[in-house]
Amino acid sequence: MSANGPRPVSGRAWLGYLAAGTAAVVVYYAIPRQGAGIAARVVLYCLTSLSAAVMVLLAARREQDGARLPWLLLGSSQVVYATADMTFYVHHYLLGRTGFPSPADAFYLGHYPLTVAALLLLIRRRTPGRDLQSALDASVLAVVAAMLSWLYLIGPRARLDQPPLAMVASVAIPVMDLAMLVVALRLFMGTGKRTHSFLLLATSLLAILTADTLYVLQQLNGTYQAGNFLDAVWLGGNLTLGAAALHPTMGAVAEPTAAREHVLGPVRIAALCAAALTAPAMLVVQHATGRFHDIPVIAAACAMLFALVIARLAAMVADQRKLAITDALTGLHTRRFFVAQLPIEVERARRAGGSVAVLIADVDRFKAINDSHGHPAGDQVLVEIARRLRRAARAGDVVARYGGEEFALLAPGARPAELAAIARRLRDSVAASPIAATAGVWLPATVSVGAACYPEHGGDPAEVIAAADRSLYAAKVSGRDRAVVGAGRPDHDPTTIDHLCRLADEVDLRLGAPRSSRAVGRWARLLATGLGHDEDAARTAELAGRLRDIGKVVVPDAVLTKRAALDADEWRLVRRHAEHGFLLADTVPGFFPVAQVIRQHHERFDGTGYPQGLAGEAIRWEARLVAVCDVWAALLGDRPHRQAFGADEAREVLRSGRGTLFDPDAVDLFLDLHADGRIDPVDLDPADVGPAGAGPAGGGPAGLGSADVGPAGLGSAGLGRVGG
Ligand code: GH3
Ligand code: MG
Ligand code: MG
Repeated sequence: MSANGPRPVSGRAWLGYLAAGTAAVVVYYAIPRQGAGIAARVVLYCLTSLSAAVMVLLAARREQDGARLPWLLLGSSQVVYATADMTFYVHHYLLGRTGFPSPADAFYLGHYPLTVAALLLLIRRRTPGRDLQSALDASVLAVVAAMLSWLYLIGPRARLDQPPLAMVASVAIPVMDLAMLVVALRLFMGTGKRTHSFLLLATSLLAILTADTLYVLQQLNGTYQAGNFLDAVWLGGNLTLGAAALHPTMGAVAEPTAAREHVLGPVRIAALCAAALTAPAMLVVQHATGRFHDIPVIAAACAMLFALVIARLAAMVADQRKLAITDALTGLHTRRFFVAQLPIEVERARRAGGSVAVLIADVDRFKAINDSHGHPAGDQVLVEIARRLRRAARAGDVVARYGGEEFALLAPGARPAELAAIARRLRDSVAASPIAATAGVWLPATVSVGAACYPEHGGDPAEVIAAADRSLYAAKVSGRDRAVVGAGRPDHDPTTIDHLCRLADEVDLRLGAPRSSRAVGRWARLLATGLGHDEDAARTAELAGRLRDIGKVVVPDAVLTKRAALDADEWRLVRRHAEHGFLLADTVPGFFPVAQVIRQHHERFDGTGYPQGLAGEAIRWEARLVAVCDVWAALLGDRPHRQAFGADEAREVLRSGRGTLFDPDAVDLFLDLHADGRIDPVDLDPADVGPAGAGPAGGGPAGLGSADVGPAGLGSAGLGRVGG
């Protein structure tokens, strides 16, 4: 019942109405069917029928706009229905016209569209959005009802030999009944509160449909007699409609339901089973009686039922899946979904050479909100933060509730350079305005965000998440309400790194270029710092420079130290060191970024390098720096078949490869640093400290770097092979 309508009816009015109505029905049957009795019966019948219309229309006035219309339609329908009754009785009893169709039938038919429209409006209001599963359930019942109606009501009537008008009228009533039954089923199977008023309304519809059906059957076999027991059923239907309108729960009939509950309980399962088995049962009946008719109709019903059952299964599976991946409080994806989706996106990025970003946002000092305003208020804040984060995300992003007050964003394709902007967007969206926690209480909320991406900060899902987590931690300890991108290097086991560095020194020695890898590491760090990168990034560049050639441990000495030019097979062998180096380094947990730089240190800016033929920004920036340092170390070292280049010649080589083989920024910076005397010699004194701070201090003359200037000399073809 609406809160601000006119005076509400008393809680028992509906019972009083039903009692009075029942008494009227008893009196109706007690009145003799002759003389003045006939007129009295007609008046009593029509007044009873009309009373229901009055009750419904009065009740409708109390409702608010949206809820009023369905009841107004129901009331109007009842007015038309009562008019039909009056017309029928006047014609039948007072005028003695018993022909079919009678003018009353026009009114009888006229009330159906109004009822159907009212029921459709109720369905719309009670179940906002789509409710596929109930619709499918109702369809199963509707198909069976339609089949039965055709077999026993519509079909036999259509086959009667009668004038066209009578034919239309006699078929129209069962067809309209069927239409009403279908929407009534949809209403009843759908979601929404099953209040007393709703049940009374359903009872009323059921009574009318039952009486109509029996009426058609009796007419078909010639047993119908005006004034028989069916009048009681019709009147009962009218009275329950009036009672439904008078019941205090009437207002709730048109109330929308927030949550959709799809309980496929035992009753519904039994009803669906029984309904679906009706079609084959009809075949059995016909087989038993030997009277076959309408087989195509039954076959069509069977096919439709089968399709509906399959559709129901599919809808249920989809619904269950959605439930499993949806967080109940916020409606975001669950952590389980996020964790399942990340490897898929990482794998896709790996194949396409793309990237995937992970951002974790944790609400700042959330415990305080719970403590001072209560858990429900905290929940409300979480719901609103979730909504804001989802709006701040792009269409293809996955936004998940990652923990209690922790959220995660998965952004496929987001590049490292975009991370800061995405993190800022998330942060700003939450902090934009205070959040309504409870009535009248608005609380400001902020989040700290940690961001990382594949492959920049981690080589697999676990590493990327760990990197984002470390960044989040960094954001928290540095004051909250801020974002940190790719911060916090994992603490690698120093012994493991030390071993890898010894491997690099070993390779240097085998190449006769001791200390070369240390020099490349130093220069790479210098360039990284010079380009404005932080300590973590500089360390990655340095480690990668230091370890770039460890993959050469698998190249035989005979090839590695060959004085004559290498043949094609030997070159192929040498070139594989980039991939081998990657595999070796990637065995260290959290070492993926370094390993990736190792793999890419022979890629060339114009895409002519190896092993993947990456070009431009697709090559990690650290690898573009290491490539320049690597070539510099190679040029300045002796080779068995040629002398070391002088610094001027080596500068010229870099300059000529600027923008083609090498990243122009890296070349410019390197040449500037060199001109300033900041690029120290390859064979710097052992006082230089490698990344691990240790390693055999192999002395000796400046030797060969890892890179090799091919026999073709300095032409671009030759440089293409620089660093064989
Ligand atoms: P910090 O800035 O360090 O993140 O402080 P914090 O208070 O947010 O951090 P902490 O992790 O100590 O507290 C998280 C709180 O979130 C504790 C827990 O009670 C609350 N919480 C977790 N899940 C829910 C939830 O579903 N609803 C509500 N209302 N509170 C939750
Ligand atoms: Mg928190
Ligand atoms: Mg937390």
